[in-house]
Amino acid sequence: MKATPYISFKDINREIIELGGKGIFKCYQCGACTATCAIAEGMFISFRRVIKYSQLGLVDKLRRDLVPWLCNVHGDCIEACPRNANPCEILASLRRYQSVLYDWTGISRWWYFSTLKKKLLAIIILSGISILGLLSLFSTSIMNYLSMNIFVNLPNLLPIGLLIVLLSISLLVSNGYRMYKFVGGGKEYTVRFFDALKRVLSFWIKSENEAMKIPDKRIRILEHMFILAGIIMYIFLVLLYLIYPIIYSLNPYNYVLMIGRYIAAIMLVVGAGLPFVKRVSKSQKIHWYYKLFRHSTDWVGLGFVFAIGLTGLLMNIFNDLHIYSLTYVVYVIHIGIVFPFLILEVPFGKHNHWLYKTIANYVSARRGLIRGEILE
Ligand code: SF4
Ligand code: SF4
Repeated sequence: MKATPYISFKDINREIIELGGKGIFKCYQCGACTATCAIAEGMFISFRRVIKYSQLGLVDKLRRDLVPWLCNVHGDCIEACPRNANPCEILASLRRYQSVLYDWTGISRWWYFSTLKKKLLAIIILSGISILGLLSLFSTSIMNYLSMNIFVNLPNLLPIGLLIVLLSISLLVSNGYRMYKFVGGGKEYTVRFFDALKRVLSFWIKSENEAMKIPDKRIRILEHMFILAGIIMYIFLVLLYLIYPIIYSLNPYNYVLMIGRYIAAIMLVVGAGLPFVKRVSKSQKIHWYYKLFRHSTDWVGLGFVFAIGLTGLLMNIFNDLHIYSLTYVVYVIHIGIVFPFLILEVPFGKHNHWLYKTIANYVSARRGLIRGEILE
């Protein structure tokens, strides 16, 4: 006898609503969001479909769908929706839900569904552990060396730091690999690797360029670019610093590193600080983007970036003013923020979205879903 086809069903809508998709049941599948979305048009995809999967509780289908990651939060769909369902917010909540599905440890689930208080408590505990660990490496004789270089020379600091980074990257990549498998990465590829890469780059550059022409959208794109560029610069400079610590001489390398450190820190502070300032502002003219529902993980993610940027900036200022005692204090606080960022935020929080988005774009491009152009 032939088996009855089985469809896995689960009532996930309460969880989706908790993650921000409060308009999920307002959607009556008219398709206006997909029709007005330049991204959907340039990619042969439908955002409406994933909303349907969620309404029906089709978890397996949702797990396999990479479409939510292709939304670029341009927001044209918000006004187009006749039901005021805010598809942009629904897609953000679906991305959060999918992050929970990709994670094999269960920590993402805890992270997304626990209260802000519990999250902050976990961060404080991890900060405390890292600060105590760091202080145990100091000795009074070391404190006599008035130079930032001494930090990298602390016994065992470099191997411990590298181990933590390795753990963070391993967790992140393992979840990224699971996502790749869920979305069927490697199958149905019709476009060659370099052609796919060309299409992704050209499509995103064009679409961001188009959006930059609209004053309303410019600020949001710049904010994202600041954070992304700041993080990349920060990682690059830390690596450079570890390999070639600053030598206190009039070497041009020192100045390049110094200017780079300031630029990276300022980018992080401005990029992550802007949403906080905008959100608390009472002005009626605030862009819709800043009024969007933000899950507590969004704020924690931004808070991490802001705090890392600010402590990095203060550290540079105190160090360059030769106030070493304060430099040390801020350095310890800086490490106390970076540690929970690496252990919690990077593999399980908002910052793993960069990886999932990259995988979704790559797989879509290899499948020929990205045209590489913007339609008029
Ligand atoms: S425009 Fe609104 S109602 Fe129509 S499919 Fe999109 S979300 Fe649903
Ligand atoms: S937010 Fe922008 S990219 Fe995302 S679905 Fe709406 S219009 Fe498309």
